[in-house]
Amino acid sequence: MERLVVIGAGISGLATAFLARLGAAATGRPLSVTVLEAEARAGGKMWSDRSDGFVIEHGPNGFLDNKPDTLDLVKDLGASEKLLPASELARKRFVCRRGRLERLPESPPAFLKSRILTWKGKIRVLGEPFAKPAPQGDESVAAFAARRLGPEARDYLIDPMVSGIYAGDPGNLSLRAAFPRINELETQYGGLFKAMRGISRERKKAGQKGPTGAGPGGTLTSFKSGVQSLIDRLQQELGSNLILGARAVGLERGTSGYEVRADQGDGQETRHGADAVVLSCPAWVAGELLGDHDATLAEDLNQVFYAPVTVLATAFATQDLGEEPDGFGFLVPHVEDRPILGTLWDSSVFPDRAPDGQVLLRTMIGGARRPELARLDDEVLTRTVLDQLKDLMGIRATPTRVRVIRYDRGIPQYALGHPERVNRIDRALGTLPGLFLCHNAYHGIALNDCAREARKTAGRVLDYLQPDSAVEE
Ligand SMILES: Cc1cc2nc3c(=O)[nH]c(=O)nc-3n(C[C@H](O)[C@H](O)[C@H](O)COP(=O)(O)OP(=O)(O)OC[C@H]3O[C@@H](n4cnc5c(N)ncnc54)[C@H](O)[C@@H]3O)c2cc1C
Repeated sequence: MERLVVIGAGISGLATAFLARLGAAATGRPLSVTVLEAEARAGGKMWSDRSDGFVIEHGPNGFLDNKPDTLDLVKDLGASEKLLPASELARKRFVCRRGRLERLPESPPAFLKSRILTWKGKIRVLGEPFAKPAPQGDESVAAFAARRLGPEARDYLIDPMVSGIYAGDPGNLSLRAAFPRINELETQYGGLFKAMRGISRERKKAGQKGPTGAGPGGTLTSFKSGVQSLIDRLQQELGSNLILGARAVGLERGTSGYEVRADQGDGQETRHGADAVVLSCPAWVAGELLGDHDATLAEDLNQVFYAPVTVLATAFATQDLGEEPDGFGFLVPHVEDRPILGTLWDSSVFPDRAPDGQVLLRTMIGGARRPELARLDDEVLTRTVLDQLKDLMGIRATPTRVRVIRYDRGIPQYALGHPERVNRIDRALGTLPGLFLCHNAYHGIALNDCAREARKTAGRVLDYLQPDSAVEE
């Protein structure tokens, strides 16, 4: 029987293992799958802490349903009944400008009325069709935004979006890698407004209705009892094939295929023979494991920088708040010079995240531009966040609960040069048959990206192991 070992049980690794097994079963050929996870729990960044009626997300709070990838995975798991769409309030998003929370406009008339940009800034946005064409090579998100939309929209519209997704520095992130869809729209249609018009014409022709797909679009979707419900379901499917507390520490070529050595924490080392290995661990771990196979590849993997980010969850008694937050939350542009990236109003978007009479918020702090803030000690961090909530939301109450969630290497940054780096990584892997990478460090950080890459990787693994009976990607 062919053997697949997956290293890392975040969503990327678990989904790859599950889909590879599903694909193999569909072709009637047996496949032994083992998933090794360093920590005592599966899920990686996807972790919902459930206690006293609260569901505190440690990482993601959902995915957008305008892409099929996570939904398809959920369907394959037979878990669609666990899906939980966000309340309509999720459409209400705010950005801080001069210390006030301004609602992000959702329509052209609302844009013209909104106070997010000055008239000068709005007129510059309207000049987008006349922007200079894209330069050759990789362009940063900030340079793209300034070129097409102007400096004010860069600072108050694009910068906070980058903070909200990557906790990143738009001046350093590659547009092609971090926002490939936006890059495609410019290449294909010659501009963003032209793209919106073009897409809506095409959709009309095809008889389709609904959002054009040029913006984020889709409905934020999660799971009853939190995103971990998806992890729980995958874990249930994999059963004893998932080994927790098993840190991969070595990857050697064996007489047939590979051998993965895992440290089980009690001085015990286990060995796992494999015909194919998927590295679904962070890039720097993959770099350590592949160092003996290809030093240049390892160096490229080690160069992927992860921004530190800390999440501070705070709960308040509803009666202690003047006004209950209603909306998705707010983001803080870097130019506002405040020590937080933004706050998600979790219980407004998913009411089951807090018990009756309580409100749950999650504030992000740190990121690529202010890494030192992510490392503040718990007390200073809490004080800093509460000061900001008081200033921006008028919250003066004492929280009923505070939880600090730290990621020293939280979110991979697709820096300028990332597309070339990933190409080099892919080429180098091509010379190491049977080895695959599937993790958020390469082709997208959203859950939809991880689910899409997991499906592709499972297909490639089966193509490699069982060339006559490959499943569709
Ligand atoms: C605060 C935060 C908020 C986010 N919010 C959203 C959101 O709302 N929507 C969205 O779509 N995305 C969001 N993301 C991004 C998304 O959560 C991640 O991209 C995704 O969960 C990454 O999954 P992964 O499996 O690729 O990696 P990880 O979750 O990092 O999993 C890697 C796994 O490998 C294990 N591992 C490491 N070393 C070893 C080893 N030597 N041996 C064995 N195992 C090892 C780790 O313990 C871990 O379990 C957020 C991320 C963060 C940090």
